[in-house]
Amino acid sequence: FDTKTVKLNSGYEMPVIGLGTYSLKDDICVNSVSAALKNGYRLIDTAYIYHNEESVGKGIRESGVPREEIFITTKLYMNQYADAENAINEALKKLDVDYIDLILLHHPGAHDIEAYKAMEKAVSEGKIRSIGLSNYYIDELEDFLPQITIMPALIQNEIHPYYQENEVIKYMLEKGIVMEAWYPLGGRGHTAELFNNETIAEIAKVHNKSSAQIILRWHLQKGVVAIPGSSNPEHIKENMNIFDFELTAEDMKKINSLDRNEKHDWY
Ligand code: NAD
Repeated sequence: FDTKTVKLNSGYEMPVIGLGTYSLKDDICVNSVSAALKNGYRLIDTAYIYHNEESVGKGIRESGVPREEIFITTKLYMNQYADAENAINEALKKLDVDYIDLILLHHPGAHDIEAYKAMEKAVSEGKIRSIGLSNYYIDELEDFLPQITIMPALIQNEIHPYYQENEVIKYMLEKGIVMEAWYPLGGRGHTAELFNNETIAEIAKVHNKSSAQIILRWHLQKGVVAIPGSSNPEHIKENMNIFDFELTAEDMKKINSLDRNEKHDWY
């Protein structure tokens, strides 16, 4: 991306960097969301299963940033698919907003087509602006697409330098679907390994940036939206401070060569 937002196939603009809130709970979540918004973030990623949608809503209100400037993503979990209409209303209530920018189905599962159709209906009712999927790969998509009306605006999957999913990214981008990385920094328990990777650390030194910033910049230059998670105000700030430098084609090539097809989680 060469701008701070990307246009979805739904017509809406979405920020290319956001705050991931998996594992942020209660006051820590409220404070992290509010700190992120005060530091220029305009995208917040939550999910029913993170049990923090109320806290995300509270953090948004506490930040003082107008709701319409913020892009909120949430996800329906598998146990909600059979009654997705109710689940969507519940998410609106918990977040305490009139509309949700993007709702994803968190994972393939029983009744997912039904749930997607409920999301399509919610789009026509103005409750949701864009809809998409998470943890869907090419085979699942091929099966899914002929059964639905609204093309997913975005797919959120695990992507980091050790798990690059280049084939999936190519397929989605060709279909006009935006890709978003979960575990953009490798995920909890794996970040140190990536941050200390010699290639990444060397590139960081040259650009006078942290390894985290190099990895996030790599995502953006590949055209992938990233939602790093953190409750540390310094890290939150640092992760947004990636628009004042550029990785060279050689840097990109070096990081691209680190792919190990090493998946760290599915959740
Ligand atoms: P991540 O790859 O973003 O790594 C987070 C870890 O990196 C945390 O331990 C954090 O403390 C650390 N960190 C963050 N910024 C740092 C910095 N600048 N310097 C040093 N350390 C830093 O992993 P994540 O937070 O688990 O994933 C990101 C988001 O993706 C989640 O919060 C969630 O919103 C989403 N997610 C979605 C799914 C899914 O199935 N759709 C699965 C997992 C995560």
